Amino acid sequence: MSIRPHFPIFDRSAFNHTHPVQAIAFVPSYLALYESGELSRRVSRLESMLASCDICPHDCHNNRLKDEIARCYSGYLPIVSSYTPHFGEEPALVGTHGVGNIFFGNCNLRCVYCQNHAISQNHKLERKNEVSFERLAGMMLELQEKGCHSIGLVSPTHFVPQIVKSVEIAAAGGLRLPLVYNTNAYDSMAVLRLLEDVIDIYLPDLKYSEEEYGYQYSKVRNYPAVARMAVAEMRRQVGTALQLGNDGLVKRGMIIRHLVLPNDLAGSEETLRWVRDDLGRGTTLSVMSQYFPTHRAVSTPLLERKVREREYEKVLRWLDRLGLENGWAQEYEASEYYRPEFENREKPFQGGADNFD
Ligand code: SF4
Repeated sequence: MSIRPHFPIFDRSAFNHTHPVQAIAFVPSYLALYESGELSRRVSRLESMLASCDICPHDCHNNRLKDEIARCYSGYLPIVSSYTPHFGEEPALVGTHGVGNIFFGNCNLRCVYCQNHAISQNHKLERKNEVSFERLAGMMLELQEKGCHSIGLVSPTHFVPQIVKSVEIAAAGGLRLPLVYNTNAYDSMAVLRLLEDVIDIYLPDLKYSEEEYGYQYSKVRNYPAVARMAVAEMRRQVGTALQLGNDGLVKRGMIIRHLVLPNDLAGSEETLRWVRDDLGRGTTLSVMSQYFPTHRAVSTPLLERKVREREYEKVLRWLDRLGLENGWAQEYEASEYYRPEFENREKPFQGGADNFD
């Protein structure tokens, strides 16, 4: 098995993107909201939710306007741990100049195997990376200036009001890229409804099909029900078929990510079956093999090893059996090189997913 550290991590051959897509002349949907004043109204409504925080389904009801901290260890200002052009996302997002990823610090989940644990679960330290709304808007514009094809909002859930407020500033400053909402899918329905036509591209995970594993490994009790509702709402907003721009890259739509876990802890077959039955065969999926034991998973029974090749192939066979044919599957070796190092905040993906200057 060869290791290809500088090879794009998604292999087009294993799971072809064959479904027809619509080509569009792209204008980001938030621009119309900005011009009509609706974006400002959304910011006000979202900010008011921070006074008794129910921005995510944890419903902590702390006052984040006064910097009261609860489960996600995040106050009023957004925390940005890193921002950089990134080449490790799906091929139809990456193009030639990458996704302009903004990695938000801290998180509303506690995944024991989180590959980004250095920034997602290092709570006190990450609070030092709070930035102003103007600075966050400036990062978006900087990434646009570098030629990135979209702005990737990575782990955005706990900072939606702050993000939308910054998008308003950035839109005034000339931001014209689509926003990619790259989420663990533990998102509130009320908040997602306020994101309609702010976000053009949804990139949610579907992590588990068993509640028990969601609690054991991510410390959340109702993950499958919440995540499935959230994903169904995202699909309602942006539709099933991906819309591509003249450059051949995704401008609007949804790509569901499913990370295969060892010992079938992700419940892959059931998740894929739900996607097929409830969202339809035309849904675009991204099946990922990149799991490797890190953080607390190194000493967590059943998670302390990589996914075996035969386990991964079994999941790929389910794609065929269920007739799911849109999307990508990572090559099996992805776990060998997809290892972010957030010690280097400017280039955390030295191992092959981030070779851009
Ligand atoms: S966003 Fe944070 S504070 Fe608000 S409900 Fe979720 S975990 Fe709690």
